Order: sequence, then C-alpha cells, then structure tokens
Amino acid sequence: MRHIVRILVTGGAGFLGSHLSERLVAEGHDVICLDNFYTGSKSNINHLLPYSNFELLRHDVTFPLYVEVDQIYNLACPASPIHYQRNPVQTTKTSVHGAINMLGLAKRTGARILQASTSEVYGDPDVHPQEESYWGRVNPVGIRSCYDEGKRCAETLFFDYWRQNQIEIKVARIFNTYGPRMHPDDGRVVSNFIVQALKGDDITIYGDGKQTRSFCYVDDLIDGIVKFMNSSGEITGPMNLGNPAEFSIVELAEQVINLTNSKSKLVMYPLPSDDPRQRKPDISLASNTINWTPTVDLKAGLSATIKYFESVIGRD
Ligand code: NAD
Ligand code: UDP
Ligand code: UDP
Repeated sequence: MRHIVRILVTGGAGFLGSHLSERLVAEGHDVICLDNFYTGSKSNINHLLPYSNFELLRHDVTFPLYVEVDQIYNLACPASPIHYQRNPVQTTKTSVHGAINMLGLAKRTGARILQASTSEVYGDPDVHPQEESYWGRVNPVGIRSCYDEGKRCAETLFFDYWRQNQIEIKVARIFNTYGPRMHPDDGRVVSNFIVQALKGDDITIYGDGKQTRSFCYVDDLIDGIVKFMNSSGEITGPMNLGNPAEFSIVELAEQVINLTNSKSKLVMYPLPSDDPRQRKPDISLASNTINWTPTVDLKAGLSATIKYFESVIGRD
C-alpha cells in the first residue's frame, strides 16, 4: 500500500469532494472532509463516517483553520450557476478568502495544495479548443463574474504564494464534470436534463441549444486530480482536466432522451447572460505530463448517471 498521507478535502461533502474523499479513504489515507453544507450534503458522505481514517468537519473556508496535514485539495465553492449566483458576494469570498486561508495553512504546515479551478477562467472563449496559455475573455461585472473572477483571483493567489513562499501548488482547470451524487436540484445541465427526462417533464434548453460543452465523467476527473496532486513538484499547472469530446446542448438532450426512453419534449428558454458559446479543453499538457486521458465516453457516463438518478428520484 501507498504511504499514508494526512489529507484535507475542502468542499468534501459536495459532488466532486465526496467522490474524492471516498477514493482517498479507500487508499487508506487519513482524510479530513471539511464543508459548510451550502450546496453539499451529509448524505454524500454518510457511508464514509464509519471509517476511522475519515473525519467530518463543519467549517467555512472563509475563516481561518488550524489543522496539521500533508496535502490539501481546495474544492470548497458552489459550482452551479444558480447556486453561485444566489449569494454572489459569498461566492467571491469563498474563492478568495478561502484560497488565502488554505494557502496560509499550506505555508505554515508545508502541505502541498491543489486548487479546483475551472474552465470558467476562459470566460466566453474566442480561442477553441482552450489551451492553458489562453488568458480568456471574461466579463468582470456580469452575473457569472463572482465565480469566474473569484476563481481567477484564486489562481493569482496560488501563483503568488508559490513565487513568494515556495509552497507546492497544483492548479487544475476542471471542465464540466457530471455523474452520480450531483444534487437533483443542482441546476447544471446534465442533472437537469436527466431529472426532467425521468419525470417526463419538458427539457429546458436555454437559448437555441447550439452552444457546446465537453462533459467529463466523475471517475475520470477524480483520477486526473489525484494523479496531478501526486505528480512531481515542479508540475504546477495551470492544467486543463476534462473530456475533449464536444457536444451541443441539444445533442446532449437527445442522448438523454434516447437513453431514458423518455417522452419529454425540448422547450426553449432565454439564454442567461454571458453564457459561453463553446467550450472544449486541449488536454495535451495533462496527457504529456501526468499521462492522463479520460476513458469514459458520454453514453457510458450518462447511463451510469441515469441509473443513479433512477435510484434517488424514481421515475413517473
Ligand atoms: P458542489 O457544489 O457539489 O460542491 C462544492 C462544495 O463546497 C459543497 O459541498 C459546498 O457545501 C461546499 N462549500 C461551498 N462554500 C463553502 C465554504 N465557504 N466553506 C466550506 N465549504 C463550502 O460542486 P462540485 O461540482 O463538487 O465542485 C467542486 C469544486 O470543483 C468547486 O470548487 C468547483 O468550482 C470546481 N469545479 C467543478 C466543476 C464541475 O463540473 N463539477 C467544473 C469546474 C470546477
Ligand atoms: N491561516 C490559517 N491556518 C493556518 C495558517 C494561516 O487559516 O494554519 C490563515 C491566516 O488566518 C491568514 C491566512 O491564512 O489570514 C494567510 O496566512 P499567511 O501566513 O499567508 O498570512 P498572514 O497571517 O501573514 O496574513
Ligand atoms: N443549460 C440548459 N438547460 C438547463 C441547464 C443548463 O440549456 O436546464 C445550458 C446552459 O445555458 C449552458 C450549458 O447548458 O449553456 C451548461 O450549463 P451548466 O450550468 O451545466 O454549466 P456551465 O454553463 O457553467 O458550463
């Protein structure tokens, strides 16, 4: 077995955080799962509570935290537009004050720290596919800015702490990821469409549905961030992690309808402002430096996710 490491996962009761915690507990590490339960839930990590190498801590990352750890995965932040826009000031505080506190903790303890950054740092991109050298096209004053600019500022803090204090950083730019344990009311497109299809409700297409996204299955993403965290110290990123297979939102809706045999109809709604038109990661860096490429295609990933939602919401 691997060397046992003391690991802090912030946002550990969320969608990605719970899968990551589960993986790290299974590897035998000593895991502190920190969450304020803003969008996460105890039901995501209840099954981990019996393990003696798992510890749950209710805490908000915007406040200082003193624990002794070797690695920090900083995932705390609401990720769905409807949730991060509900209290936008808190969203920026979580990204910025949260990063400062976790970087201060990394500096004091000498822990290696990984930031869950996002493809949103590229904004509505005019370079396609997006590679890490692209600086992005982000509106600083729009309704998505609390998230996009908060995450951009967190990246700045990571690189300044690295230059100023020589701490070990890893900045992962995560592209749209989906899978079991997304909240049924999460509001992101994959969970919305699956829940709507299973209930026979209308499928809510925002805009004309020609905008694109590239969807990564959660197991692939978790493999990527764990590999990145444990890669050699000079590999800091920023590093894109996502599945480069690109689909329009209408194509996604059609796949969900086919896989669920649903009678739901597509219904168009207005496109929210600043909604990116296209998004597809260039993952050459991850493939060349940490030897990572996703393996689960959209059909297989959606089938597993549909099975999960059938078990939590049933179907009409
Ligand atoms: P999620 O909303 O399910 O998880 C976020 C977790 O952080 C929740 O458990 C929430 O309660 C917790 N949280 C929020 N604010 C907090 C605070 N101030 N203090 C402590 N905990 C707090 O979202 P997710 O999809 O699991 O995303 C996890 C991380 O990955 C986020 O940082 C997100 O920005 C990033 N990310 C996710 C995706 C994706 O497609 N899933 C894409 C890009 C980036
Ligand atoms: N911090 C923390 N845990 C620690 C060390 C620091 O939460 O173990 C917080 C601390 O409260 C501070 C922030 O991290 O606000 C940044 O710490 P740093 O040492 O970089 O800055 P300073 O304390 O000098 O302002
Ligand atoms: N979307 C949609 N219907 C929904 C939810 C989202 O058409 O019910 C669209 C949304 O406008 C965006 C895309 O799907 O163009 C992805 O949205 P999501 O909120 O999942 O992620 P993000 O925009 O942050 O990539």
